[in-house]
Amino acid sequence: MRIHRLPPELAAKIAAGEVIERPLSAAKELIENALDAGATTISIELRGGGAELLRVADDGCGIEPDELELAIARYATSKLRTPDDLQAVATLGFRGEALASIAAVSRLELVSRPRHCAAAAFLRVEGGTIVARGHCAAPPGTQVTVRDLFFNVPARRKFLRSAVAESRAILHLVTALALAYPEVRLTLRDEGEERFSALGNGSLRDALVRCFGAAVAARLLPLPQPDEDDAGIQVSGVVSPPDLHRGSRQHLFFFVNRRWIQSRALTAAVEEAYQTAIPAGRHPIAVLDIRLPYDQVDVNVHPSKAEVRFLREHEVFTAVQRAVRRAVVEAAGIPLVRSSFTPAVMPAGGSWTEPPGRLAVRYDTLPERRVSGEDVWTASRTAAAGSAGGSAQPGAAALAPESVLEEPGLFRVLGQISRTYIVAEGPDGMYLIDQHAAHERVLYEQFRRRLLAPGAPGASQALLQPVALELGPAQAAWLEGEQQTFERLGYALEPFGPTSWLVRAVPAALAAQGAAAVEYLRAVLDQLADERVPDVERRERACWSLACHAAVKAGDVLTHDEMVALLRQLERCDFSRTCPHGRPTIVHLSHAQLEREFGRR
Ligand code: ADP
Ligand code: MG
Repeated sequence: MRIHRLPPELAAKIAAGEVIERPLSAAKELIENALDAGATTISIELRGGGAELLRVADDGCGIEPDELELAIARYATSKLRTPDDLQAVATLGFRGEALASIAAVSRLELVSRPRHCAAAAFLRVEGGTIVARGHCAAPPGTQVTVRDLFFNVPARRKFLRSAVAESRAILHLVTALALAYPEVRLTLRDEGEERFSALGNGSLRDALVRCFGAAVAARLLPLPQPDEDDAGIQVSGVVSPPDLHRGSRQHLFFFVNRRWIQSRALTAAVEEAYQTAIPAGRHPIAVLDIRLPYDQVDVNVHPSKAEVRFLREHEVFTAVQRAVRRAVVEAAGIPLVRSSFTPAVMPAGGSWTEPPGRLAVRYDTLPERRVSGEDVWTASRTAAAGSAGGSAQPGAAALAPESVLEEPGLFRVLGQISRTYIVAEGPDGMYLIDQHAAHERVLYEQFRRRLLAPGAPGASQALLQPVALELGPAQAAWLEGEQQTFERLGYALEPFGPTSWLVRAVPAALAAQGAAAVEYLRAVLDQLADERVPDVERRERACWSLACHAAVKAGDVLTHDEMVALLRQLERCDFSRTCPHGRPTIVHLSHAQLEREFGRR
């Protein structure tokens, strides 16, 4: 076969197909042009999902009358001059391809009037050929009308999505841009009806209300002020609290220097910050505004500019994760922060362990997170087991001078019901705690901390007699690869034949459970050797799975001190309100709810 040059018309169509894939891409390019032109009002109009008609009108700087033809020529742009400019692109557009591409595959009309011109100039183009030009009356700004997109590219036209799907995608785009540019009045009309309108008053809060509704917007948490040491990377915006989530990732918005982008890495960073705080399969809401020096982002890596590359990806990832995590932990932390609380009634039986003065402590001044006494729960179980059903107080008290039992706690344990729930009074009413879910959360966080900070002292407890662990080949292979993980969790392991191991020590948190702690290891291995999950996640799951196996079960009778110790530790968790699977650990009936229920108000 002979090689020949494509006729320019066909070459243009092929090139256009890359830039303009569907009506959504045309809408994105046109709105970006309006934003680059400094518009404060942008109106978008659709018919037939944008394939029949797509019109974007703005009040931006306009195009000089003698430059209209240049604007629709390929590789013609006002935004770049030298090759160096490409290293620090500050505008949304920069390739000079969009108008040319759209013009090649539609019937396009371009009307524009810079403020200093008395009249507007216009140009009409069909399939890339200019068919009319002239002057007309129009307000300052630019109006681009695209009709019959892909009328001359039947292959593409055939594959277009339904008008409804396309309209929805364009609405999503406009919503995203309204979040990135709260100072711009963006409006969208579809088939003559207004579908979206932004206030354009510059307030992100107001934009959030327009995009998510008032109820959701009110609950979104602002990220903490960016750290100063983040070397030019600033992350701001809002995220949802852990109990507000969605079934898809549609509500994660990332803006990098005000460019809306998609990013698997950033999505992972955000979702990781919510790790175990929201149920599996659910996703948070986030609107993140990431700013960094222009020369640290390569924006020229994707045909529709929907992705970027970071010079220091890891730093950006970390900055995002840290900011989100801080906001989430603050929101998810101790559920009881009400400094106004003073215990009204002292029980006659006097199981208060604190004098009333200490209980009036300001609860909101509790330290953010402390590790001391993290194994007290276990030790208290041992003590209780050893004291033949009597008071475990001596054993528990002997543990450590600053034993959790002696610190003022937020909860006063009243008892256990159904051998499953702990009933407690707290700063605002009554709390029911699922003992398994709560213990699972406590253990999970201890294990996870161990994984992150190996070599923590007191992490493991030697067994009096080493226990042999016989494994199947898959489990054995897996344990060999992950020996370090389990050692960090507190197991001491020694190979003992091809598929056997000797367990010499177990995690201190499980010490009281003796040989059962070895069985948990086997159960975890069985579970993990089966699953096809990436290594990092496996470690996470090892923590989950171990916590789940080792936690007290529903049906276990707990002593008073065991319950107290468990609640003290739960208070100290990052995400005290959910178990690692995202189920709630606490059900709360506030004073106000109680009063309402009893008709007191
Ligand atoms: P790019 O945006 O990459 O420069 P385009 O093909 O989208 O390429 O636009 C070409 C040029 O036309 C732009 O550089 C800009 O100068 C001008 N232009 C396009 N749209 C507008 C608009 N809405 N307002 C003002 N100028 C515009
Ligand atoms: Mg452009």
